[in-house]
Amino acid sequence: MARLEGKVAVITGATGGIGSTAAKIFADEGAKVALVDLNEAALQEVVGSIGEDRASYTVADVTQPDQTEAYVDAAVNRWGGVDVLLANAGIEGTLSPITDYPIDVFDRVMAVNVRGVWLGIKYVVPVMRGRGGGSIVITSSTAGIGGSPEMSAYNTSKHAVIGLMRCAALESAPDGIRVNTVNPAPIETRMMRSIEEMRVAAMDDSRVTVEVTKQAVADRIPLERYGDPAEVARLMLFLASDESSYCTGGVYMVDGGRSAGSR
Ligand code: NAD
Repeated sequence: MARLEGKVAVITGATGGIGSTAAKIFADEGAKVALVDLNEAALQEVVGSIGEDRASYTVADVTQPDQTEAYVDAAVNRWGGVDVLLANAGIEGTLSPITDYPIDVFDRVMAVNVRGVWLGIKYVVPVMRGRGGGSIVITSSTAGIGGSPEMSAYNTSKHAVIGLMRCAALESAPDGIRVNTVNPAPIETRMMRSIEEMRVAAMDDSRVTVEVTKQAVADRIPLERYGDPAEVARLMLFLASDESSYCTGGVYMVDGGRSAGSR
């Protein structure tokens, strides 16, 4: 039997590198997927690549309570319930020391990366309770277990969702709802390109290119490379599925060894 047969999975940030890959892998494993993101055309493209018999979408900003309620309701109306929430929407913010970091950017990063996850949990748990249980998987990061200069908003937000995950895991265990984080190191998506480009711009040195910056980051990873979105999505699949039935309240690294230290 497919690993998510009979399950309904809501995925936020579903048109991004990791979210769209998870959507395809979850659907291939038998799930019905309800996709959430900001851009309708991009959502239609991902739904089209999976098929309307297995995927639906809702345009929603995860920072907004009414839009969060709406995406949960839409999943229930289309597929009959929710078994899995992959709370994955996220933004990187900007690169700047705290003293210069724009306050509005800090607020937006916290709103998307923390409030958005909190709202998703708030509205999905009652639905999962009615279903007799479920699995919530939150995309944190290696930035959730350590600091990085000039990334204070992002790292703070990714630490915060680990605290949120632990609270939600304790509150929801009696309802059979498991809650865990997945913590990737740099992965080949738009987000890392954006961070590399910001680093290059900040250096103002023609020898420092995106490639040089990327190599410097990869060199600090024991496996000496960025991860592929599918390598993250396969861990998400495990945590979403009943194979992880004894896993809750956990921080799951998928980081090429980065959290073991750097060489
Ligand atoms: P991405 O930029 O490709 O995808 C992020 C998606 O989130 C985008 O499709 C974006 O439109 C969506 N999004 C942003 N704000 C939103 C909002 N307010 N409401 C709804 N959707 C919104 O990047 P990605 O690498 O696929 O990131 C997915 C998750 O993985 C993020 O939470 C990110 O922080 C985390 N992560 C990424 C990396 C990496 O190296 N790429 C590493 C660790 C963790």
